[in-house]
Amino acid sequence: MALRIFDTDPDAKPKPKSTDYGYDFQFRSGMQKNRKPISLANWRVLSGRPDVSDAIAQLMGGSVSEWDPSKEMNLEVLTETNSIEIVIDGPDAIEDKLILWGRSGPVHECDGEFFLSPVEDKGKPCGCPKTLKDRKAAARAGRGPSPAINVTFRLAHDYDLGRGKLIATAWSMAEVIHTVKNDLERVGEPALCTLTIEKVEYTNKDGENVSFKKPVIEVLGSYNDAIAEERD
Ligand SMILES: [Zn+2]
Repeated sequence: MALRIFDTDPDAKPKPKSTDYGYDFQFRSGMQKNRKPISLANWRVLSGRPDVSDAIAQLMGGSVSEWDPSKEMNLEVLTETNSIEIVIDGPDAIEDKLILWGRSGPVHECDGEFFLSPVEDKGKPCGCPKTLKDRKAAARAGRGPSPAINVTFRLAHDYDLGRGKLIATAWSMAEVIHTVKNDLERVGEPALCTLTIEKVEYTNKDGENVSFKKPVIEVLGSYNDAIAEERD
């Protein structure tokens, strides 16, 4: 069921924002349900283009639906795939920072030690806690920034579909993203990688079962070598 308030007044329907983000679809490992964030077992892919969303559903399963008409990326596919091969051009395709969001944008944007914005503060010490434990605690309390990692990529099995973006906010990703960048640096050209939502389960020292999901990028090697092998 959907409200029919725009059937009778189509001009009042909010127009999708025309900002060009430079990418065609977005990978998410979570969503909001009843205003609470939940993590997903399979990738959720957003796009503003019906042809792209259709292709994603073809490749990764699931079906296309409109989740928020006011968003530029108004279409979503809840796919049936938790791991997919992607192509990342190099370490520069990964933008990693820490951000604390205020009501109208970032209020603290840093690399963990120095401000990245606003321009007048760039390079100045940001005053974030030194230990990872304290950083996480500050972020949880809403006083400190948390990871904002953007990865731009293409799908290895539908390269010409366009550019995708992963927006990851997990500390588990922030803790290992430097190794991914090093691996990409070592490949030195566009790299074939896997992008996976991994389920982690273990029993902690209090005997409790802990389970959570985290996005993981694994660099496999040169993309050109991989497609050359496929052709042989
Ligand atoms: Zn900081």
